[in-house]
Amino acid sequence: MSDIDKLTQLLLQQAELSAQREERLAGVFTMAARADSGAEATVIGEDSLSSICVEPAQLEPCIGQPFSAVGRHPLTCIGSFQAALELGDRSTTAAVFVIKEMTGLLLRWFDCVALGILPRDFPAQIRSVEDTPRPTDDATHSGDVTPSDDVTPSALPAAAGSARCASDRPTPCETSRDRLCPATGAETGGPAPPADGPSPAAGLGGPLPAWNSDSEPPEALAPLIDSALERVRAAAERDPEHRALSEVILAGFPENRHEAPPAVRAYWGVRHQLAIDDGLVVYGARLVVPSALRRGVLEKLHASHQGVDRTKRRARLSVYWPGIDKQIADTVAACAQCRQRLPSHAREPMWREDGAPTRVFESVSADYFSAGGHTYLVYVDRLSGWPYVTVCPRTASADHLARQLRLMFSQTGVPTVCYNKSTRRLPALKLGSRVDLQDPTTGRWNRIGVIVGVGQRRTYLVKTASGRVLWRNRRYLRPYRPLLTEPTPPVAPSAPRPPAAGASQPPPPPAAGAPQPPPPPPLPERTAVAAERAVRPAAGAPVCRSPPVWSPEVETAAAAALPRRSQRQRRGPGRLQVRWGATSYEE
Ligand SMILES: [Zn+2]
Repeated sequence: MSDIDKLTQLLLQQAELSAQREERLAGVFTMAARADSGAEATVIGEDSLSSICVEPAQLEPCIGQPFSAVGRHPLTCIGSFQAALELGDRSTTAAVFVIKEMTGLLLRWFDCVALGILPRDFPAQIRSVEDTPRPTDDATHSGDVTPSDDVTPSALPAAAGSARCASDRPTPCETSRDRLCPATGAETGGPAPPADGPSPAAGLGGPLPAWNSDSEPPEALAPLIDSALERVRAAAERDPEHRALSEVILAGFPENRHEAPPAVRAYWGVRHQLAIDDGLVVYGARLVVPSALRRGVLEKLHASHQGVDRTKRRARLSVYWPGIDKQIADTVAACAQCRQRLPSHAREPMWREDGAPTRVFESVSADYFSAGGHTYLVYVDRLSGWPYVTVCPRTASADHLARQLRLMFSQTGVPTVCYNKSTRRLPALKLGSRVDLQDPTTGRWNRIGVIVGVGQRRTYLVKTASGRVLWRNRRYLRPYRPLLTEPTPPVAPSAPRPPAAGASQPPPPPAAGAPQPPPPPPLPERTAVAAERAVRPAAGAPVCRSPPVWSPEVETAAAAALPRRSQRQRRGPGRLQVRWGATSYEE
């Protein structure tokens, strides 16, 4: 190397040193930082504080929730200071919290996004993200930090700042050279080693607890014991059916169903998919729940009141026992909230199509569609394809549709065919029938009424329970279905069945899978009076204070006592017979 080269190099080094000195005088320091998408606060180790010449006395006191690391290890926050962070041509302002137990600088998700290390749509994985302000601009973002102990740290993919990575170690977290400019500013600081401190976030929740390979050993995490599984295991050990099932699975099912122990015969249909996993019986990917826990599991499955289909779908992802589908259906049928959330009816067709058009606007199609928060009615000629689009009010009513169509007909001529393929004709409702009314705004089927009049254009006059009389379109009416009073309790298949119903026995509960018997038909008033007399013992008969035992006649009489629905119900039997103990009465 020639002298000139050496001189040039020396001059360049001097220029760089003087530039660094100027920066230090201005309170600007360059140091390495690590990005942590799971961290909720930007933190710096206490030992790195001296490298950027921030005195502990200059720190603001740390207010807020305590900081904690992976595995909920508590961390000591000494204080915080405001700093401007720069990376390349991007910068952001952040509150930096000083943590005693860690080293180096760790950037939270918001600052990583603001500095362009992470793409904006990178998942933050912070549960309390709605409590934390999102960065509104790449350049300016002041961070109110809400440290929480309930987030999941995660590995970080290569981000925009990875070109500036100072660490050549293959760590899950990218390390990027960053410039830390404390507002209190002072002396110099070199690049700090990658922090080995944990993130101010605990590893709980999420599908798998993740950890940084260089921050927390896996042993430091809480042992992976699922308390729910432990409860299932304990219940399975106490459950004789579950024990018998395990034994049969281990020994193999017999050739014929009748050779299997009675307790496990309910599993005959699924015997090929049953297995034992870690002491628990599984059916495919579903856990076979012991009898004692079924009621609780059923309540959890139904907790969000999503109706039969979605509740069954939820169950098929995780749990199983014989008759679970029927029990879900019964539970939903007995739930008033689920009935209120029944889906709305499909729209009804306007006309039925027959034949191909021969002139324009002879055959038309019409339908509603929504765009940009508005509802539109589109009216199209099927021969030419010429459309008319009109804006509708938010709740497009039948009256509005009729007005619009009349307008269209006056402009284009009355079509012979009007077609709408997405509609479905709803069956007509009878006078006097009980109906559920849907609230057009909330979509809830939350009122019950009786049809007292039938109007044009599929409208009905409905009298509600409160006495109000309303006109409602057929779309907002649904035949009333009474709630099941009590859902079928989940019972073990091995539980003994009650004996068959005799004259002096109560009726057996409906067998699993069998359709529910229809509600007893209401009877005219005259029959109700007759039935009431029929259940009363005749004069001279022995007075018995015990309730009458069940018989079909008593059931009919009890049904007659129910409020009648309308004038047009079928008549009950003319003669009634009641058996009460050993005596029978006839009307
Ligand atoms: Zn429900």
